[in-house]
Amino acid sequence: MKYSSYFLKTHKDAKAFDSINATLLQKGGFIDQVMSGVYTMLPIGLKTLTNIETIVREEMNKIASELLMPALSPTELWETTGRTGIDVLFEARGANDASRKRNDGQYILNSTHEELITPLAQKNRQSYKDFPFAVYQIQTKFRNEERAKSGLMRGREFRMKDMYSFHTSEEDLLAFYETAKQAYMNIFSRLGIGEDTKITKASGGDFTTGFSHEFQTMCESGEDVIYINDETGEAWNKEVAPSEEGFTKHNASEVGNIFPLNTKFSKAFDYSYTDASGKKQLVFMGSYGIGTSRLMGVIVEKFHDDKGIIWPESVAPFTVYLASLNRDDSATVATADAVYEELTRAGIETLYDDRDTGTGAKFADADLLGIPYRVVVSKKTGENVEVASRRTGEAKTQSLATFIQEIR
Ligand code: ATP
Ligand code: MG
Repeated sequence: MKYSSYFLKTHKDAKAFDSINATLLQKGGFIDQVMSGVYTMLPIGLKTLTNIETIVREEMNKIASELLMPALSPTELWETTGRTGIDVLFEARGANDASRKRNDGQYILNSTHEELITPLAQKNRQSYKDFPFAVYQIQTKFRNEERAKSGLMRGREFRMKDMYSFHTSEEDLLAFYETAKQAYMNIFSRLGIGEDTKITKASGGDFTTGFSHEFQTMCESGEDVIYINDETGEAWNKEVAPSEEGFTKHNASEVGNIFPLNTKFSKAFDYSYTDASGKKQLVFMGSYGIGTSRLMGVIVEKFHDDKGIIWPESVAPFTVYLASLNRDDSATVATADAVYEELTRAGIETLYDDRDTGTGAKFADADLLGIPYRVVVSKKTGENVEVASRRTGEAKTQSLATFIQEIR
């Protein structure tokens, strides 16, 4: 991608916002705030979010089928489960008389999708032979959060991966639940936060007498507090932590949450399957969320320095920031063009800074945007390129072929 024709504008001198991720993502031109808790994903931000969601999708496809449910749903579905009173629920209706005259229905803007997935599963899967199965989506959710803050970490409109599983017994549900835990940890490892993300016991809500499990990423700015047992490494959310024993307390952000729902929703919708003897039995369900836009914020909170973001390679919108210097020298420009072509041919995502700006501005953007490798082509680099790692700061001069080989 050529910087000169990309819809990208950095705002290095913008004021600081209430959190590191809000500040760096806005200075870097990744996101734009429309109102509190609501953001536009600008091209470079969308590319980053898509990388995160692709990793989530790849791991989920191993255990479930992807579908896409609507954002809007009829209020009756929420009346069926008695959840119209959820304190973050948004509704939507015609905005004016003309619109309401056409259709004066009132709808829910979904905050989660149990109300939609349960009747859908019921339409399609009724025999014990059809079980177990799991489906998921990656979708936009709406929640009227009391305090939408900390950039992407708490939005009123945000992205979530939500999976739902269906079983003929509690044992089968719990076996799948463990598989999901493993899939989640694979995702967080691939995102570079595996070691700092703890499977944390949390309240089971009104679904189960046992625990639900949160995936809490240790992070200074996290809104949650978790207690980690010094000996066993087991983690508890503050809300359910035992009071004795030796614990270390950490701030953390909840990047995922999985629930054994058991029969709460199948009861509400009267969703039963027919067992081998022809008898009706209630279906057991689980639900499994990951906050994909929150993850983008958490990754910035964890990986940055005073110059900007330091994306893990798996998440970075581009792998290489190609800084073309001495743009008044046509031979140097021709070399930079050739380097860009070769990187592109090698399948390495490159942001080619072909602007007529000074070296300082190019290097500052490379640092702010957090691209893993800065490759410089200048009068000085001749046959070679100068490669600097954003993470370690180390720079070396090498041939382009060697660099391509090294990062492949
Ligand atoms: P929290 O306790 O942080 O409000 P929650 O427990 O209400 O979150 P869940 O219903 O468990 O959230 O949703 C699944 C996942 O979606 C969460 O683990 C989190 O990663 C993400 N998420 C929830 N609310 C938001 C939000 N307002 N903005 C961004 N991501 C969110
Ligand atoms: Mg939760």
